[in-house]
Parts: sequence; C-alpha cells; structure tokens
Amino acid sequence: MAPTHRRPREVDTSRHFCPYSDCDYRGWLGLRNLRANGHPSGGPWRQFHCTSCQGYFLETHGTIFHGKQAAVELIVRVLACLAEGLGIRATARVFAVAPHTVLQWLVEAAEQLRAFSAHFLCDLHLEQLQLDELYAVLRDLKAGAISDDEAIRRLERSPYWVWTAMDPTSKLLVVVDVGSRTLAMAQRVVHQVIQVLAPDSVPLFLTDGLKDYGTALLTHCGQWMHPERRQDKSPIPKPRWMPLPGLLYAQVVKSYRRRRIVGVKHQVVFGTGLAIKEVLARCGWTINTAFVEPLNLDIRQRVAAIGRRVNTLCQGEAGLRDQLALFHVYHNFVLPHASLRQPLLVPEVTNGRGAAKVWRPCTPAMAAGLTDHVWSLTEVLFYRVPPWPQTQTV
Ligand SMILES: [Zn+2]
Repeated sequence: MAPTHRRPREVDTSRHFCPYSDCDYRGWLGLRNLRANGHPSGGPWRQFHCTSCQGYFLETHGTIFHGKQAAVELIVRVLACLAEGLGIRATARVFAVAPHTVLQWLVEAAEQLRAFSAHFLCDLHLEQLQLDELYAVLRDLKAGAISDDEAIRRLERSPYWVWTAMDPTSKLLVVVDVGSRTLAMAQRVVHQVIQVLAPDSVPLFLTDGLKDYGTALLTHCGQWMHPERRQDKSPIPKPRWMPLPGLLYAQVVKSYRRRRIVGVKHQVVFGTGLAIKEVLARCGWTINTAFVEPLNLDIRQRVAAIGRRVNTLCQGEAGLRDQLALFHVYHNFVLPHASLRQPLLVPEVTNGRGAAKVWRPCTPAMAAGLTDHVWSLTEVLFYRVPPWPQTQTV
C-alpha cells in the first residue's frame, strides 16, 4: 500500500500488524498499511492507524500490558522473579502485590509466551536431540526416605512429570511439556518435536532408558517397507513399518549410587553405532559423555513448583504448565548460557574500573540461529506475536 502522507516515517511499524478480523491486512507484517498516531489522551502507549480498514489500535494490543493499570516495570519484575525461580507467594510479598494478581499475570504471560515460542521454534534444523523426563514432586526423595527406583515406581502414574527435548549443542529447549510417564505422553512429546523440525531434518535422538520413546520415534519416523519374496512360490510377505533409513536413536542409561554416576550403559536402537559416533564426534563427544543433564538442574532452580514444596497457588498441572511456558522462553531467549559465550575479537571497555569485556553473551536461541541478540524480558513481553508465520521474519 502506498503511503498516504508526505511526512517521512519516524516510528518503526515493522513489528506491528492490524488486529481486525475484517481487514485484508490482518496479521501481516511489513505491508506499510500502518501509521503511528502518537499517544491518545496522553497515555503511555502509542496508537496505530490501519489505512486499509481505518481501524485504530494500541501498540500493546495482544500483549499482557494491554488494558493494564499497573506499571510495566512492576509486571516485568514480577515475572522476572517467577522466571528466576521465586514462588508465587514469595514474589507477591517482595513486590507487595496480591498473590492472585501475580498468578493472573503469570497465566496471561504464559499464554502470550506459548505463542512466542511457537512463532520462533519452527522449521528447525538440528543434529541432535536429547529427550528426558524429570519428576516434579521431590519431597520424599529429598528426605532420603526412599530410593530413586522406588520414587520412580511410585511416581510413574503421577501426572507431574516434566518432559523436555533439548538440542545439546545450542542448548535450545525445543519442547517442554507436563504429563504422566506413559507411552501416550512419549507419543505426544515426540509429535511436538517432529512438528517444530524442518521436514528434511532427522536428528540423532538420545534418551534415557524409557522404552516408550522407541515406540514413539518409530511411529513418527517410520515408513512402510515391502520385503522381497524369498522364493518364487512363497506367499508375498506383508509390508512392514520400519524406521526411516536416516533415523538414529540410542538410549543412554546411567546408574547412580549416592548421587554419583557409577556406570553408563548405552544401547543403539535405530541406526548403527558408527553413524551415531560420527554425529557425536562432531561435537567432540562420545556416547558415554553425551546426555549430560544440566537442564534438569536449571529447571529445578528456576521453576519453583518443581524444585521446592509445591505452592498451593500452583498445585495443579495448569499452574506448572504456565511456569514452564515462562521458563521455556526465559531459557531460550533471555538467559545467556555460559558454555555458549563467544570471545570478542576486540575487548570492550566497560564503565568504571572493571575489567574489559572479552566475551559476547549468547543465548540458546542465538546459538540455534533463531535471533541475533539477547532479549530482555520486557522486549519479549512487548513482542506482538503475529497470528501466523510470516514469509520473511526478522
Ligand atoms: Zn486493518
């Protein structure tokens, strides 16, 4: 659409889109149909005008700040506190806000953040994926009353298992979900993984010893094969569902004694040991050193409902899901990962007398090539997620 005014554009409208359902330009970025109008009634937010449908909307449309009286800084800090692992009640006390207000903000933010993750995590090309589950209720185990095996046996059917799929090279958390430790859930997680991968990408899968992963992977990464007849007169063999030729999958089972690893057993399920070794060798790993699980520790530290006593406000599965949606984005986009940092060619002088900066911080999303910078939580929460994928994204 040709601009209808002569003033040079000063306000960047490239990250905004018209939200009105009867507008032809609805949901599309960068079509030059938006004009910035300043701040109506002296309010904090800029208004945009769509020159196609003549509709007006605020720059906060579709974000949690829309229609909120509370200060942006307060909302962001409350959510940052939750993302860092403080419980809902503790956060409410720190900022002198009602616990139910904190919960309400978390619920709304989670909805926006799920859309944010879905928007960015698509068409991924990954070489490796580690799938893992961890249990959310730890009280008995911490007390040392029961063994690991006993705890797992007892918790097997409890719904509070956090399932994760992570790319170990970029540390990108691809999928995080909550559910029981069953085949149905393994299927659901693998299904989500396949959804975010590029169609031609079949990474090496590494999991723990849960046998349901094998079934789930075979379901999603398989094809019908027609075996040849052995002899002319033998009956035509039935077609068989076989793993795709490119599918590589190994189970890595660690045994612990007093929280120390005492043994690593691995089993190649699909593909050959040699092919798996080759993929791992590109990262300088062997099958014995692969499948380290620092992510679990991160989740336990940063998701209050898992690491500590379950808060009454966050007891249900829904509450845990909301905290994980926050963790998902925070881990991928906001938190620089120490192992990913890159040395700067020219050290940057810092303010004050501190040492010069020699590292460039890097988040998992940067390492995976999804974005070019470390996001602040404010920036994430102000991001208006378009309702569908755009042809050209930044
Ligand atoms: Zn419009």
